[in-house]
Formats: sequence, C-alpha cells, structure tokens
Amino acid sequence: MDTVRIVESASTAQIFYEPKHPYNQALQKSIPALHEKGETLHTIPGSTPDLSKPISGCPFAPRCEFAQEKCVTSTIAPKEIADGHFSACLRIQLKEIDLTPAHLPEKALARKINY
Ligand code: SF4
Repeated sequence: MDTVRIVESASTAQIFYEPKHPYNQALQKSIPALHEKGETLHTIPGSTPDLSKPISGCPFAPRCEFAQEKCVTSTIAPKEIADGHFSACLRIQLKEIDLTPAHLPEKALARKINY
C-alpha cells in the first residue's frame, strides 16, 4: 500500500518473488534480512506524499525510478496482470517494464521458499 491505496495484490510467493509494482520492489530491496551484513541497503528517495493535497496519477511517481509523464496524468486502477496477481503500476500493466527476477536481491532469490 502507498497513501492508503493498494498497489499490488497477490499470493505471498508472488509478492516476494515476482513483484509487479516498483514500490513493493523498492521495499524489498530495503529489507535488512535479505542482505549480507555490511551491505548497503537500498533507500527510496524523497518522502511520502502530502495527503492534505489531491494526488494526480500514481502516488509513488515522485519517488519511482521508472516514472514517466503518463504515470502522473493517468488514472490508474489495479489490473490483473497474471493469475490472481493485481498491480496498480501503469507501466507494468502496459508491459513496458519487468521487475522480475533480476531486480531482487540475490539473497532473496536464494531463500526462495515454496508457499
Ligand atoms: S505507475 Fe509509473 S510511477 Fe507508478 S509505480 Fe508504475 S512506473 Fe512507477
């Protein structure tokens, strides 16, 4: 979730091993337990949106490394992009970006567990 919007919905395995939203992916890259000791953790730039003002388009756009103009100008609803896997990322929905599996930390992939 980001700014009280659900940005991705799926099974636990899909969420962790096949993330389909840059916010979910960025959060996972920031989990200390998925990295080696001393390894630099990923940080999400910027700060959370000001909820006192209306948000146009994707609420994660100011902080997203994949953001484009259309992310801010479009109304984006969650869409099923695989069996039971919903994403509110416009560029994932348009198949313009693919987050799996190379963007996950190696340690996360090595620990893959069947749920
Ligand atoms: S819709 Fe655009 S800004 Fe939002 S997460 Fe997807 S790529 Fe990033």
